[in-house]
Amino acid sequence: MTSPGVPDEIHVAGRWRPGRGNPLECVDPATGEVIAKITAAAPEDVDEAARAGAAAAADPAWRDLLPHERARLLTRVGDLIEQHAGELALLQTRNTGKALAETRALVGSAAGTFRFYAAALETTETPLTPQRGPYLTMSVPEPIGVVGAITPWNSPIASDAQKVAPALAAGNAVLLKPAEATPLVSLALARLVVEAGVPPALLSVLPGKGSVVGDAIVRHPAVGKVSFTGGTDTGRAIGQLAAAKFMPLTSELGGKSPTIVFDDADLDQAVAGVLYGIFSSTGQSCIAGSRIFVPERIYAVFVERLVAGARRLRVGPGTDPASQVGPLATFAHRDRVAALVDRAREEGANVLCGGGIPDDPELARGAYYLPTLLDGLPNDARTCQEEIFGPVGVVLPFRDEDDLIARANDTIFGLACGIWTRDYRRAWRVARRIDAGTVWINTYKQFSIATPFSGMKASGVGTDKGRDAILRYTRQKSLYWGLDEAPLPWAT
Ligand code: NAP
Repeated sequence: MTSPGVPDEIHVAGRWRPGRGNPLECVDPATGEVIAKITAAAPEDVDEAARAGAAAAADPAWRDLLPHERARLLTRVGDLIEQHAGELALLQTRNTGKALAETRALVGSAAGTFRFYAAALETTETPLTPQRGPYLTMSVPEPIGVVGAITPWNSPIASDAQKVAPALAAGNAVLLKPAEATPLVSLALARLVVEAGVPPALLSVLPGKGSVVGDAIVRHPAVGKVSFTGGTDTGRAIGQLAAAKFMPLTSELGGKSPTIVFDDADLDQAVAGVLYGIFSSTGQSCIAGSRIFVPERIYAVFVERLVAGARRLRVGPGTDPASQVGPLATFAHRDRVAALVDRAREEGANVLCGGGIPDDPELARGAYYLPTLLDGLPNDARTCQEEIFGPVGVVLPFRDEDDLIARANDTIFGLACGIWTRDYRRAWRVARRIDAGTVWINTYKQFSIATPFSGMKASGVGTDKGRDAILRYTRQKSLYWGLDEAPLPWAT
């Protein structure tokens, strides 16, 4: 069995080799240590990978595989991920800084994703559509050919799997572009996909700068769909290129999600859930509950408990099982988060806790930032409107339900929402009025691959996950089968 190990080459058109781009150093953000050196892909590599992918997808050896045969390969990928779970989780922790408990869960979810799409593929049916004349009608999904999958640095193996598994299940080749800073686990995944028996040219992993390698993927004429997860500005730029090519695009973008605590909530549950929602993954989560709405009536009590909870969180390296809040994924990102908290101070924010780097000398080498809670800002402050993507939450008091809904929806984003209440009628009412693709009620940040995931407004277009994701990597073709023995009447 191949060990994924620490990759030093990239996977282009079925071969392991250095890319033709710039040297790339992968850094452990807990220590600043360089853990791998690779050479990034260049646009020439994208071209080679796209051509080889198109040929491999059209090759009868892959194209004519029956669904259950393709499913068997995907199941094997899931099994291999599980067999290498410890190694993959550690690799992702070392490259992203995330706590091991989280990366283990992400690896488990990636294995489950491959198995889920194997099962979905085996059970997908293509119905005959209702007959409306002397002909039978049916509509069949066909592979697109080559698809691009562009992922961010916060949860690489899980976001890779959510694109690669349904795209392969649908019969495509995939060009995977992981974030420049965190390509290692995506390269390790490619080793396992090949070991499982998937024809090697069907998955190229092309690390490198988004503006070079990602751009080349989006523009390549052989690429017929892109599934993108990342920031809203990048999504907008890719969307414009995709529109010019008439190419379908799924985009999962940023968020500034409201977490709402009502005064009848179980406050132990709500405090734990709000802390988890904003500070797990060191806040580097698209669905982070970064705007915390609390009724005026319980504001002081709730905020006191929240701040006490945030102060108790254990900040430390992801490799230490006791750590709850690891470093930010890169030093540059840590500095960006620090600058955004300084800007919040200039906007008039009260810093309730955190607001700086830890003074523990053990953490001095890493890209750490303390869990930070702010309040005292109006909803239209930039801090309340723009995504920080770090361990920073802003608490906002509200008067009544209408005031809450108006302010919670007053954002360009619409990704997620959390509601803490014992009143199920109110939960239903509020959940239906909030602009969000996902609403958690008395829980937060829980996921099922079987449940569709999408954003509203500037949080994205299209849907990932759910069994229908396979169909989103296909083109539809309708067939009419004439049943009459006689010629068509018009010409007779
Ligand atoms: P990003 O800068 O948009 O990058 C995402 C990916 O796109 C990276 O692989 C990046 O490459 C690439 N990229 C950048 N510019 C590109 C271009 N012009 N053409 C093609 N690809 C390009 O986002 P990020 O900072 O890595 O990730 C954080 C963002 O992702 C946050 O906004 C977060 O909310 C969002 N996110 C959303 C979801 C969701 O499901 N809604 C999930 C996770 C994260 P480089 O590595 O070179 O920049």
